[in-house]
Amino acid sequence: MKDFYEAIKKFHDKFEMKGTNNEDMNFRLNLLIEELGELAQAVTKGKSREEVMEENIDLLNLVIGNFVSMGASLEEIDSAFWKKYDKIMNRKKKKIEGGNYRVSDFKN
Ligand SMILES: [Mg+2]
Repeated sequence: MKDFYEAIKKFHDKFEMKGTNNEDMNFRLNLLIEELGELAQAVTKGKSREEVMEENIDLLNLVIGNFVSMGASLEEIDSAFWKKYDKIMNRKKKKIEGGNYRVSDFKN
C-alpha cells in the first residue's frame, strides 16, 4: 500500500492537483463512475484479462487518489482498512436469490 500511495501522491504533485477540482470528491465521484463503467464494459463484453486488470487498476488508482485528496495518512488508511476487515470477517455468508451467495451484514 505504501508504494502505491506514494506513487499516486507523486502523480497528484506532478499535475498540481492540490486545491483544484482534481481533489474535489464530487469531481472524483464522476471519475470513479466513469472508470466503473469502463470496467463493466470490459467484463460484460468479454474483453481480455489485461484490459480487465487495467480497468481495475484505474479504479484502485482513483481510490488511492481519494485518500491523497482527503489528506489521509498511511496510518489512517491502515487503521480504517483493518477496522473494516474485522467487520467483513465477522459477517455471514448466505445463499440469495438466483442461487448466488453473498457475504453481508444480513439483518435476519
Ligand atoms: Mg479506464
